Amino acid sequence: MTMERILISSCLIGRRVRYNGRDKHSDAKDVIQRWLSERRLIPHCPEVAAGFPTPRPPTEIKDPRNLLEGGADGLDVLEWRARVIEYLGRDVTDMYVQAARDAVDVALRNGCKHAVLTDGSPSCGSTFIYDGSFSGIPKPGMGVTAAALREAGVQIWPETAIRDLDAQLRQKIKDVG
Ligand code: SF4
Repeated sequence: MTMERILISSCLIGRRVRYNGRDKHSDAKDVIQRWLSERRLIPHCPEVAAGFPTPRPPTEIKDPRNLLEGGADGLDVLEWRARVIEYLGRDVTDMYVQAARDAVDVALRNGCKHAVLTDGSPSCGSTFIYDGSFSGIPKPGMGVTAAALREAGVQIWPETAIRDLDAQLRQKIKDVG
């Protein structure tokens, strides 16, 4: 059986690529290590790949006209109803959209049916992002890259669901073998 490949946010495998220069702690490091040794993982940071430096200013997704019920998310950015704004006001929407398209390209080229992404990020968030006020207030929604990957047919998992995905993949191997 072919090993199913997984696109994974680079910060989850210990690369210090987050906006604050840190990596992202995962409670499932043992699973990540095993996946690495199985060569399943395609690590990717959409923001760094798009040319953003580390560290970099925090960004959030905003609905500039406050028209969207429940606020904006990554899909609204891809459909140009919302913008991605840095803390000091610079509009970086174009780079985030390009970052999302590049991540889809990487996932499809490598045959990734799954992506494990760091939740809360304006790129990688999958169950929640922040509300655009830079006040630390979470809201349901996806980041720009997560939304683009989902639109491309890739199954998205937050880092809190790593063990669930691992169980699903192991069960598949058992069923076949
Ligand atoms: Fe991690 Fe994604 Fe942020 Fe890159 S863009 S640091 S991979 S959460």
